Amino acid sequence: MDFLRPESWEEALAARAERPDALPIHGGTDVMVELNFDLRRPAALLDLGAVRELARWETLPDGTLRVGAGVPYARVITGLGDRLPGLAQAARTVGSPQIRNRGTVGGNLGAASPAGDAHPPLLAAGAVYEVESAARGVRLIPAAEFYAGVKRNTLAPDELIRAFRQTPVAGPQYFSKIGPRNAMVIAVCSFALALFPAERRVGTGLGSAAPTPRRAYAAEEFLAAEADWDADLDDAVAGRFAELVRAAASPIDDVRGTAEYRRHALGVLARRTLTWAWNDHRKGARACA
Ligand SMILES: Cc1cc2nc3c(=O)[nH]c(=O)nc-3n(C[C@H](O)[C@H](O)[C@H](O)COP(=O)(O)OP(=O)(O)OC[C@H]3O[C@@H](n4cnc5c(N)ncnc54)[C@H](O)[C@@H]3O)c2cc1C
Repeated sequence: MDFLRPESWEEALAARAERPDALPIHGGTDVMVELNFDLRRPAALLDLGAVRELARWETLPDGTLRVGAGVPYARVITGLGDRLPGLAQAARTVGSPQIRNRGTVGGNLGAASPAGDAHPPLLAAGAVYEVESAARGVRLIPAAEFYAGVKRNTLAPDELIRAFRQTPVAGPQYFSKIGPRNAMVIAVCSFALALFPAERRVGTGLGSAAPTPRRAYAAEEFLAAEADWDADLDDAVAGRFAELVRAAASPIDDVRGTAEYRRHALGVLARRTLTWAWNDHRKGARACA
C-alpha cells in the first residue's frame, strides 16, 4: 500500500487528482478501524495530517467562522465552544479523550455516517462545507445538500474537504444524544437545535434517525411561525414541535434500538432541547430589556 503525505493543501489536491485510488485519512479513527478489520484495502493512503492549514480556523471578513477540516473534537471544545456551542456539545459526547484528540470534524463529514455526531449541530446551524479539487477549485455545499445516502456524501472523486463555514452563535444551540451509556457509544439517535431569535428562525438536525443526517423542515417552519417569541414556551407548541420532529425521521430497527423507540426518543430530545433553548432565549431577552 502506498503512503502519500503531502505537506501543503496544493500538494494534497494534486495527489488526490493523480491518485483517485488513494483513500484520504486524517485522524484515522474511522479509516484504521476499517483497515484493521480488513473491510477496505485501498491501493494507497493520502495522509492529510501534515497539511497545517487544515488544523486552523479563522474569521472571514463577513464574520463567518471558517474551520479547517482537520480540527479535532478536543480543539472544537477548548477553542470554539463559545462560538459553536452546539458543535462543542456534540464533540464532548464523541468517543473517549483519545478519539476526541485524533478524530476530526472533516473525518466525520468524510465518513458521512448517519450516526456521526458532528452532523446534527452543523445542519441546525446552517453550516456550509467547503470542498475543493485541483481541476475545478472550491465548491461550497450547504450541509443539508451534502449527504447522499448511508455513509455516502456528494464529494466528487477528485475533491477533498477543506473546511466548514458557520456563522458564530446567534442564539441558543443545543445537542442531545441517546446511548446506553455516557461515553464510547454510537448514538441510538441524536438531535440538535439552533434558535436565531433576531431572525425568528429555527434550525434542526437529526442523527441516527434516517439513512442520512437530515433537518426537520416542517418542525422548523412551525416553530418559527407559531411560537410567540416574546413569551415563555407554550406547552402545546412544544408538543407539536416534538411531533413534527418525530415525523421527519425514517429510522430503522437495528441492534441499537427499534425504529419506534428512536421516533419516541427523538420527540423527547426535541422537546427537551427546545425547553433549554427557549429558556436561554427568554433569559437573554429579559437581560436586554
Ligand atoms: C472507539 C471509537 C469511538 C468513536 N465514537 C464516535 C462517536 O461517539 N461519535 C462519532 O460521531 N464518531 C465516533 N467515532 C468515529 C470517528 O472517530 C469519527 O467519525 C471521526 O470524526 C473521524 O475523524 P478522523 O479524522 O479520524 O477520520 P478518518 O478516519 O481519517 O477518515 C474518515 C473518513 O473521512 C475521509 N476523510 C477524512 N478527511 C477528509 C478530507 N479532508 N477530505 C475528504 N475526505 C476525508 C476518509 O477518507 C474516511 O472515509 C468513533 C470511532 C472509534 C474508533
